[in-house]
Amino acid sequence: MESNNSIRLITLEVGPYSNNCYVLVDPFTNISAIIDAAADPDTIIEAIGNTSLSLIITTHRHQDHWDALEDVKTQFPEALVAVHEKDATELPVKADVFLEHGDTLQVGTVPLRILHTPGHTEGSVCLVSGSFLFTGDTLFPGGPGRSDDPGSLRKEIGSIVTHLYKLDPATKVLPGHGAPTTIGESKLEYEEFANSEHDVDLHGDVVWSKG
Ligand SMILES: [Zn+2]
Ligand SMILES: [Zn+2]
Repeated sequence: MESNNSIRLITLEVGPYSNNCYVLVDPFTNISAIIDAAADPDTIIEAIGNTSLSLIITTHRHQDHWDALEDVKTQFPEALVAVHEKDATELPVKADVFLEHGDTLQVGTVPLRILHTPGHTEGSVCLVSGSFLFTGDTLFPGGPGRSDDPGSLRKEIGSIVTHLYKLDPATKVLPGHGAPTTIGESKLEYEEFANSEHDVDLHGDVVWSKG
């Protein structure tokens, strides 16, 4: 567990794809939010504990990021289900809130700013709160998330460079799977990629650095 001034963050590693499910708690109001009710609903429900769950955000349409959503929503029916409209139809429950670029949601006193970052999927979003950036499958240590075709990769890199790399270099990148990194570190890795030649057909599991 860690905190940045005003937020308490619990990271749960869940399910067969080692998804990160993040639970954010505002210590002042005890209001909480989930980013990706990915799997293992009992683990997530236990982490929510006696906090007031107000929001369940899904970063994108892939099932490993919402497999526990229905069970968690059933347990906390007052919590709003939030997702970008372009990825909403794949979810097992109806969305209460469509996330739009530039929106700021409140988790108690904690603001959570939405960045629409299409590429990995059309409706992928990242979320900023203070020095934390939740990137779903858009950005990982070492490279972007998997892309289905060259156009999607270009779109994904555009999203990363335009929206994520504008953030403070000290911003902590908290991805949908695996370990965190920082914006500063990621930008350094990307520099090598940006300065090399690439096949026009490049897509799939792309890494920034050949080294
Ligand atoms: Zn994904
Ligand atoms: Zn994933």
